[in-house]
Amino acid sequence: MSSSLHCIDCAQQYPIQRVLYACENCGGLLDVRHDFDAARASITRSVFDGRLGALAFPYNSGVWRFKELIYPGIEDSSIVSRMEGNTNLYELPPVATFAGVDRLLLKHEGENPTGSFKDRGMTTGVTQARILGMGRVACASTGNTSASMASYAAHANMQGIIFLQNQQIALGKLAQGIAFGATCLQINADFDRNMELVRQVSEKLGIYLLNSINPFRLEGQKSIMFEALQQLRWQTPDWIVVPGGNLGNSSAFGKGLLEMLEVGLIDRLPRLAIIQAEGANPLYRHFSGGFRHFEPVKADTIATAIKIGNPVNLQKAIRALEWTNGIVEEVSDQQIMDAKAVIDGAGVGCEPASACSVAGTKKLVERGIIKRGDTVLGILTGHLLKDPEATINYHAGHLADLNPQYANQMLQAEDSFDDIVRILGGAQT
Ligand SMILES: *Cc1c(COP(=O)(O)O)cnc(C)c1O
Ligand SMILES: [Zn+2]
Repeated sequence: MSSSLHCIDCAQQYPIQRVLYACENCGGLLDVRHDFDAARASITRSVFDGRLGALAFPYNSGVWRFKELIYPGIEDSSIVSRMEGNTNLYELPPVATFAGVDRLLLKHEGENPTGSFKDRGMTTGVTQARILGMGRVACASTGNTSASMASYAAHANMQGIIFLQNQQIALGKLAQGIAFGATCLQINADFDRNMELVRQVSEKLGIYLLNSINPFRLEGQKSIMFEALQQLRWQTPDWIVVPGGNLGNSSAFGKGLLEMLEVGLIDRLPRLAIIQAEGANPLYRHFSGGFRHFEPVKADTIATAIKIGNPVNLQKAIRALEWTNGIVEEVSDQQIMDAKAVIDGAGVGCEPASACSVAGTKKLVERGIIKRGDTVLGILTGHLLKDPEATINYHAGHLADLNPQYANQMLQAEDSFDDIVRILGGAQT
């Protein structure tokens, strides 16, 4: 076997086919480790570039194009894929101006099949579930993980079981879980409690757990970095800026970047900036306190995708920060929604949590940490249509304590030709 599970704390190893989410020795998080040497000849820029534009499975997926770095050696017939990835990199001048940098590239992970980056982790997670012969898969979710899992479970003929929190589930995400036929359990508890419950229930009932504590999820999410660097012609940007909730993505980025350096695809590491909402900022507090004492928080933010107070991937995220000389910043809901309005207004759009990448860049520029001349790669994690309520309420001025500075207000007209002409300001000259 060229792959195995490794504890990140005590280095204990386990066979790859074990169903484990934590080290049996010490409780530490597990990494999937691959032996890249066996596939060394295929791990080159030119091999990966040669697969761009592939029409055939699996290289038409933006995850499986990098198969040798994702899950080498498995049969293609085991792979459960929706041709995820292949997302665009945008340069939007109004957004760069807003953030205060000359070169801001936004990778839009909302362009994945179910509208968030979670699909990149779900293709690998559900593939592992199939390899293990699992019939049922489960997750706790603020919405996007469940939407994605429900879709991939349907593809793989598995039963998807989703643990949803009692309030503030964005409508688009809830609709997807139901539509894709998952068993939807709405539980009278917040995300962090649901996370505990789903771990206990999955263990008891032998259901495969697909939250990002499952290390196979992170293997797929590494491909965001692989693909972005490929789009940048393998030139490392100065900064990668990403929202942080359960910290799966930040953790995957750290691992993926380090692996790219190890195998020689890139020659230096960027700095990672993880952005949290002020109302859900446990990593920010921990970072600011020099990582001495970790305290979970009771999370509250309009950016529901990152409304998480006790992130499961904490230790892996800290490791990623150490590897990349990274930093953590926090932004207010006002800053998040204003940044979102600017991204939306540029004609691209994203869901609230995603706007942390831009709001955080702006704040770090103002603090002098990111320089105007730095190249910044921001990740837009989810699609605009995921949370229509937050968008409409912002523009209508219906969000408590928020001042919609960038509102695009709806105009009202009577059923009257003259009225409409008057409102539109007459003929264009
Ligand atoms: C899941 C999610 C996040 C948070 O990612 P983590 O890996 O949990 O830190 C941010 N934005 C969106 C849109 C998400 O779906
Ligand atoms: Zn251990």
